[in-house]
Amino acid sequence: MTQQIFVAGEWREGRGDPMVSRFPADGSINAEFNAAGLADVEDAVAAAEAAWRAPSWRSRQPHERAEVLYRVSELIKSRLEELAAQQTRDNGKPLSEARGLVASAAGTARYFAAACETLEGELPTQRNADFMTLSRYEPLGVIAAITPWNSPIASEMQKVVPALAGGNAVVLKPAEATPLMALKLAELFEEAGLPKGLLSVLPGRGSVIGEAIARHPWVRKISFTGGTNTGRHLAHVAADKLIGTSLELGGKSPTIICEDADLEQAAKGVAYGIFSSAGQACIAGSRLFIHRRRYDEVMERLEEIAGGLRVGHPETAGVHLGPLISESHRDGVAAYVERAREEGGRIRVGGTIPTEGELAAGSYYPPTLIDGLPHDSAVCQEEIFGPVLVALPYDDEDELVGLANDNAYGLAAGIWSADYRRALRLADKLEAGTVWINTYKKFSISTPFGGYKESGLGREKGRRGIQAYMQQKSLYLGLDHEPIAWSD
Ligand code: ADP
Repeated sequence: MTQQIFVAGEWREGRGDPMVSRFPADGSINAEFNAAGLADVEDAVAAAEAAWRAPSWRSRQPHERAEVLYRVSELIKSRLEELAAQQTRDNGKPLSEARGLVASAAGTARYFAAACETLEGELPTQRNADFMTLSRYEPLGVIAAITPWNSPIASEMQKVVPALAGGNAVVLKPAEATPLMALKLAELFEEAGLPKGLLSVLPGRGSVIGEAIARHPWVRKISFTGGTNTGRHLAHVAADKLIGTSLELGGKSPTIICEDADLEQAAKGVAYGIFSSAGQACIAGSRLFIHRRRYDEVMERLEEIAGGLRVGHPETAGVHLGPLISESHRDGVAAYVERAREEGGRIRVGGTIPTEGELAAGSYYPPTLIDGLPHDSAVCQEEIFGPVLVALPYDDEDELVGLANDNAYGLAAGIWSADYRRALRLADKLEAGTVWINTYKKFSISTPFGGYKESGLGREKGRRGIQAYMQQKSLYLGLDHEPIAWSD
């Protein structure tokens, strides 16, 4: 059966261009189908507009909305293996990582179900003589959720669930490379009893379908995760319509190994921070600053660790790095490494496209460690989105902070130090939305996430994650029995 898309509560053939989902490990075809067309956008948004206004969702008690989301969480858990396998086929992540993402997606649904049920308004003033005020949260309306290919199920649930919990409807546009996971999620929400029209999933080209959704006059917020240039463009679209955005964008996150760090723990943490997901993570710790006195030791250890990681077929147990999402993306990563070579960088590990055996069939790239480049080089400044780590020595803390902050992005940072006072002092000075101290790339759904500078606007997750999809209405209740003393 050809893959259908989910529009306005119905499964149907898309009315757009033909679309192919491929397995990045060998280029084989997962699915061929028709993407959404502009007519599907119209239908999806019209159904979403009607559905969020209907009492069947918006006026349902919070605990009743929560029940649907709890059911989604249970369904995800009960189908964990199937969903993880799908995620791996869709974007090439090793199965072990895909399982982790699916489990986190179930946690996201559970967390926002609980937050939905316990969401409270505010009583801003104590009662005064003649009036009291209260402020409550109401839905925004139709939300455009636009997601990237690197962690589909996690990034999609992170937007869809809090938006629905807040009483909104969602039109989800997954990335071109990974349309299948979002369609699978639509099945689960349908099975969990979400009223028709509240969720549509429209795979298609970003510049056509994503753009049409974002520009639609009934769309009241754009929640986007992806590249900074697209995010900036969508911020312009939102500004013209005077609507809000949540933008999770790129990163070039610094990791710092202080002189007093536990080097074994730090080296392993740094390797995990950059090489897991083959570096295809906005939070990848891709710039490494090492105190000069420990530089050689750390680099030797990193060479051993990176050299020992297993690159291979993502369905094989024990593989650390699967393929990159596509050949063209892999070639872009390789071009950065070539540029590093030309600019005098030393490639200490990796740096060549594998051409032997099963690796030749997919878009693989090995863990790569580079040093010897000035901090203003492109490889130190630009997001590569691949398994490429660039290292630099530093001598003192002021110089370090200057270098670490000398970047357009500000998504995350890592600090490895045995001295928490030092680590906290550094954390205060770093321009980043998330700072990991003696750990990296760990996530909690209860902790807000988002970027400084060109890494984004707004925060996702956390108890206020639902309010990000709501607007406040303040009420004044007069308590005085007398007329307002003005015209006397
Ligand atoms: P990445 O670099 O991660 O591929 P993109 O920003 O290109 O990031 O893509 C992230 C998501 O944004 C994808 O779903 C893509 O289709 C979508 N997208 C790209 N261009 C636009 C656009 N002009 N309007 C809306 N969505 C877009």
